[in-house]
This record gives sequence, structure tokens and C-alpha cells, in this order.
Amino acid sequence: MTLTPGGTTHRRTLRWQQARVLAVHDETPRARTFRLGLPEPRRHLAGQYYVVRLTAPDGYTASRSYSVASPPGDGGEIDLTVEKLDGGEVSEYLHDVVEPGDELEVRGPIGGFFAWDGRTPALLVGGGSGVVPLMSMLRHARATGRPDLVRLVVSARSPADLYYAGELPGPETTVVYTRVTPPGFARPAGRLTAADVAPLVRGGETVFVCGSPGFADGATDVLLQAGVPVAAIRVERFGPSG
Ligand SMILES: Cc1cc2nc3c(=O)[nH]c(=O)nc-3n(C[C@H](O)[C@H](O)[C@H](O)COP(=O)(O)OP(=O)(O)OC[C@H]3O[C@@H](n4cnc5c(N)ncnc54)[C@H](O)[C@@H]3O)c2cc1C
Repeated sequence: MTLTPGGTTHRRTLRWQQARVLAVHDETPRARTFRLGLPEPRRHLAGQYYVVRLTAPDGYTASRSYSVASPPGDGGEIDLTVEKLDGGEVSEYLHDVVEPGDELEVRGPIGGFFAWDGRTPALLVGGGSGVVPLMSMLRHARATGRPDLVRLVVSARSPADLYYAGELPGPETTVVYTRVTPPGFARPAGRLTAADVAPLVRGGETVFVCGSPGFADGATDVLLQAGVPVAAIRVERFGPSG
């Protein structure tokens, strides 16, 4: 299948728009951030996502959801970070073909349940690309001078797989590695445990969990073991969304 960014037709609805790819950079060997300029600016909430739609010359379309990594701003520019999946219809295309100057058809921002209000305490738990919407929350907290409101724990396979490695570390963030740890790192490699999250639980916060279905289920179990009430936990699963 041959897909073109932006598609061959532009649907005349208010909700789809042709974004311009302003810049592209790699976060890890398998994750890339696309900065998009939106002709119709729409301010998003931290945690919301956009749908990207690719259209082939024969009219075939493929749509996938991508969380906004950038903090809420004037809505004129957003960052989407995409993990490249082997054989992935849309993620491979975005990585291998799309470059600055291209157009992408997008619709958003979408999602209310997984959005953080920016004013109340939040515990953020992410695995792999699941850190993307949580990064928007962390950036928002820092930009508004309220980093004390958030605690972020992110699970990555190795230091090379950590998204936003130059920006994410700070007193409000914890990284656990499942396979390879950096030299001198005290915690042995392994999956997230209740012992990792228990010290971060303050009580009364909203907990945002995001990642693959397997990560989301495992992290939810760990949070329950750590005493977090189930009603406080909001989960976003990055499974197939076509
Ligand atoms: C609300 C929401 C927000 C999302 N935000 C992001 C984001 O910020 N960044 C990001 O990279 N992805 C995100 N995703 C996942 C994204 O929408 C796609 O599912 C992903 O990019 C794969 O699409 P694809 O077309 O490349 O693969 P497909 O062609 O759909 O699938 C290829 C193969 O990979 C499997 N697969 C599909 N999705 C995943 C996945 N996420 N993990 C592992 N295997 C998978 C399929 O079962 C299939 O075997 C989000 C999903 C949702 C629902």
C-alpha cells in the first residue's frame, strides 16, 4: 500500500485539519517526535491525543491515535512522539517517509478521562511510549511552577530506550529499567513493583497509568498492592487503535 501524508482529499469537516510537519527529531532509536503546526489552533489538555489519518491514492485510509507530548499552549503547535513498530502500518510510515514540510491530516484534541487538570496532585505511571501523555503533564506542571503536584515513574527497557532522557530527570521523576541499568544504578533491572510506587503515593491523588495493555494491567496491579484505591486510577492502553 502506498500512503501519502495528508491524503488525497481533504474532508470538509471542522474536525480534520492539515497539519504541517515543522520539525522531526529522534527521542530514542525507535521513537521520533514530530512537531506539527496547526492551521486551526486548538488548546489541548495535558493527556489528550490527536488522530492521524493517512490516505492512499486509492482512497484507503489508516487512522491511529497519538498523544500530545507538548504541554498545553496556544494550540498552534503540538509535538507527537511515535514509537516505530515493526510492520506497523502507520508508525513505520511516519518514521520512514514523513519529513519536515509534509502535511498530515489530524483531528483533535480528543479525550477527557485521561486529561490532567493541572491543579490537583497526580501520580503518573508510564511504560515505553506510554510516557508520552505523561510528559505533557510533567511539562505542564513544570511550566506552571507546580512540579510539586506531580510524581512520575517511568519504566524503560534500558537507558537507550528512555524517552526525553535529557529533560525528564528531576526530583519529581523516577526511572526503573526492566533489562539494562546504567552503571552505578542501585535498583536491579526488573519490572515495576509495589516497592517502586509505594513511596510515591501520597493519598488523594489521581493516578494516570499509560502504556501497552500488558504494562497497564501490571502497573494497575502494582498500584493496588501499594494501597491506591481503584477509583483513583485512570488507565490509557496503547493497543491497536485502527
Ligand atoms: C489513545 C491512544 C494514544 C496513543 N498514543 C500513542 C503515542 O503517543 N505514541 C505511540 O507510539 N503510540 C500511541 N498509541 C498507539 C498508536 O495509536 C498505534 O496503535 C501504534 O502506533 C501502532 O500503529 P501502527 O499502524 O504502526 O501498527 P499496526 O499496523 O496497527 O499494528 C502492527 C502490529 O503491532 C501491534 N500493535 C499495534 N499497536 C501496538 C502498540 N501500541 N504496542 C505494541 N504492539 C502494537 C498490532 O497488534 C500488530 O501486530 C496510542 C494509542 C491510543 C489508543
